[in-house]
Amino acid sequence: MSFLHKSIFASIVFSILFIGCQESKDAEESVVIVPKDTVKEEVFPKLGHDAPYYADSMYYGREKYIEYYAGNLPIILSVPHGGREVPSEIPDRSYGTMVTDDNTYEMSKVILDTMEARFGAKPHMILCRLKRTKIDANRDSLEAAQENRFAHRAWQEYHYYIGSAKKKIESEFGSGLFLDIHGHGANPDGYYDLRTWLGYLMPGSVLDQADEELNTSENSNKTSIRALVDSSSFSFIEVLRGKHSFGSLMDSLGYKSVPSKKYPGPEGSRYFSGGYNTARHGSRNGGTISAIQIEAPKPGIRENQQTWSNFASALATVVDEYYFRHLGRRIKN
Ligand SMILES: [Zn+2]
Repeated sequence: MSFLHKSIFASIVFSILFIGCQESKDAEESVVIVPKDTVKEEVFPKLGHDAPYYADSMYYGREKYIEYYAGNLPIILSVPHGGREVPSEIPDRSYGTMVTDDNTYEMSKVILDTMEARFGAKPHMILCRLKRTKIDANRDSLEAAQENRFAHRAWQEYHYYIGSAKKKIESEFGSGLFLDIHGHGANPDGYYDLRTWLGYLMPGSVLDQADEELNTSENSNKTSIRALVDSSSFSFIEVLRGKHSFGSLMDSLGYKSVPSKKYPGPEGSRYFSGGYNTARHGSRNGGTISAIQIEAPKPGIRENQQTWSNFASALATVVDEYYFRHLGRRIKN
């Protein structure tokens, strides 16, 4: 190769290298210089964009994290802690309770089917499919979602569907029941209370008071069944733990419950009196939908298909009886 040829060759190689470098530099720069705000953040549709909700249809929130079975009975089933999904887009929550209420997701679907078969119409049911490590749909939004926008969106959908079901029930029936379905495990000391704990926002220490002390309108007005007590011809204490109480009705079908005539209070032991959902969606602060938190033990209730089915059948009977005795009519004529 002559000198001239060598020079030409060198300049071609140089040009190629130069162009190559230039290109890769441009490519690098094109990544770096894109302003952050041009990366589109997912825009969520307006809550309720999927309305109207027809009984017999199912609706889903974003990514199907939340399920809503629309109904036509004055009953709402809420199942916040039975989910198992762990999507990577939502980091684990860093504080709060993380325990899954085993089988409540599956059991509640059996309750829905049982009620539908019994009454010929459907309760409303809202379920969270996310595991509790990702969201807690029974807490305020801050503790529930811990500032993750996807978890926060799921939380909003969960409560939006409940709110929508409540509105429908209030306008069609005038009153209704909201049941928040949970499961409790063994106490920290290892003792497993095999009774179902019914939460009305009455702390255990208050339930441990004598009837005369407890039976005040001040206490009644603090409960999640305030509207139901007002409608009932029975006294507050009778509705809470007398013969016609939810607990005594459950007890009469073999499901020991606190409070009830037989078990008026927890007697100082561990007991859950109702959480965020019971407070928000019950009638303590007005409205005509009354709420009860149902904390079922696993043995004998959440255990397997047979126990779900037996419990669902008892629950349907009790809900109907309770509604009839205090609100004056059958759930479905
Ligand atoms: Zn729970």
